[in-house]
Amino acid sequence: MSATQLAQTYFEAIEKKDGEIGAYLTLTKKLALEQAKFVDEKIARGEEIGLLEGIPGAIKDMICVEGVRATAGSKILDNYIAPYDATVIKKLKENGAVILGKANQDEFAMGSSTETSAYQITRNPVDPSRVPGGSSGGSAAAVAADEAVWSLGTDTGGSIRQPASFCGVVGLKPTYGRVSRYGAIAMASSLDQIGPFTKTVEDAAIVLSVIAGQDLKDATSAQSGDKKFEDYLTGDIAGKVIGVPKEYVENLEGEILEIFEKSVEKFKALGARIETISLPHTQYALAIYYIIMTSEVSSNLAKFDGIKFGMRADDLNDSGATESGTAKNLLETYLDTRKIGFGDEVKRRIMLGTYALSAGYYDAYYLKAQKVRALIRKDFQQAYEKVDFIYCPTCPEVAFKFGEKTSDPLQMYLSDIFTISVNLAGLPAISFPIGFCEIEEKKLPVGGQLIGEWFDEEGILNAAHTFEISEK
Ligand code: GLN
Repeated sequence: MSATQLAQTYFEAIEKKDGEIGAYLTLTKKLALEQAKFVDEKIARGEEIGLLEGIPGAIKDMICVEGVRATAGSKILDNYIAPYDATVIKKLKENGAVILGKANQDEFAMGSSTETSAYQITRNPVDPSRVPGGSSGGSAAAVAADEAVWSLGTDTGGSIRQPASFCGVVGLKPTYGRVSRYGAIAMASSLDQIGPFTKTVEDAAIVLSVIAGQDLKDATSAQSGDKKFEDYLTGDIAGKVIGVPKEYVENLEGEILEIFEKSVEKFKALGARIETISLPHTQYALAIYYIIMTSEVSSNLAKFDGIKFGMRADDLNDSGATESGTAKNLLETYLDTRKIGFGDEVKRRIMLGTYALSAGYYDAYYLKAQKVRALIRKDFQQAYEKVDFIYCPTCPEVAFKFGEKTSDPLQMYLSDIFTISVNLAGLPAISFPIGFCEIEEKKLPVGGQLIGEWFDEEGILNAAHTFEISEK
């Protein structure tokens, strides 16, 4: 099959399925077919091609592709066309990957169900009455529904791993600094990372090898060196020590606990040693995350004011918004644009963050949260003196139904209880399928999460790969 035929096959699948699933916001057919043609010509000339060359994927709408609309799931960027490629996109293009389109997400990546997207809902391909998780729900659903071979998401508090778990695919959040954030619309800059969704762990390694590396355009990207992560998949984890944090599993119950325990036995059978460990500051992680993340959100989203990017209040009226554009001066333009352009969850977080950073409260909230963040990081540092990896379920639950949590933001936030500490500490972590819960005659996937030491992506990839191949 040629790269062009492959791309066309995927566009046919999208045409057939995406009316129901709603994974994509924008298709980039012209770009995809140009890229595919380029690869086919290379093959015809007898040139060698890379592992990702000609392979079609989807990009979360948070990431900029030159000349293509990038909404971040928000009305405020409804008419925003990215003027340049994110570094990850540049690398994907240089490596011949084919980009099919932009995937739906929660607005500015805030959410755990993709229900805060200003555009559409995305259905979980495993059970269309349920959410795909979030915020990278479109990216996860595209892979799960075979509407893309791979996709990119962003993970600030779990937004790659939780939807991977809900949709039964693999999702990798790299170490903070492993992948350049240049050209990814910022949510919370000290937590955000770009990473892949795929059907197998090996595929995740292949995508990571292409997108990773230091970038002078992102001062927080690390000198981690170029690596072919797929070369580290030996399928052998004998002698490795896996720590199970007691704080994560003590409240687990029912089928998720059973599936998790079975997976621990499996790791033992593969030759790993299991140890119970403690991460004592876990109980503060959610609270700390919702102070630090919202503070950074309030600062990062200040630039969307109707002047520099995207929509202005009057444009919104042109596109059918109900409020009339009556701004008489610059301040009113800012206020109207933000009032109409942002959804409720985004506004809630801007307000929380602005409050946490305000004079008089800064020390009590933001500064204190940063101190506790250091303690959470230290918990992990101490744990890695004794263990190679940390293992727990990705989420305490399986995919839930639409509307189940939208009225109670705190319930929605709790979906990320096992994933946020990893972002606060900047560690790499992978979610991979470990079993299914049977609910209402549907087999709903459960994900396991392996957390590695800083820059040990190859370690967690190999452990997850070893688990995966032993299942087959
Ligand atoms: N669900 C979490 C939140 O709403 C995580 C979001 C993310 O990782 N982008 O903040």
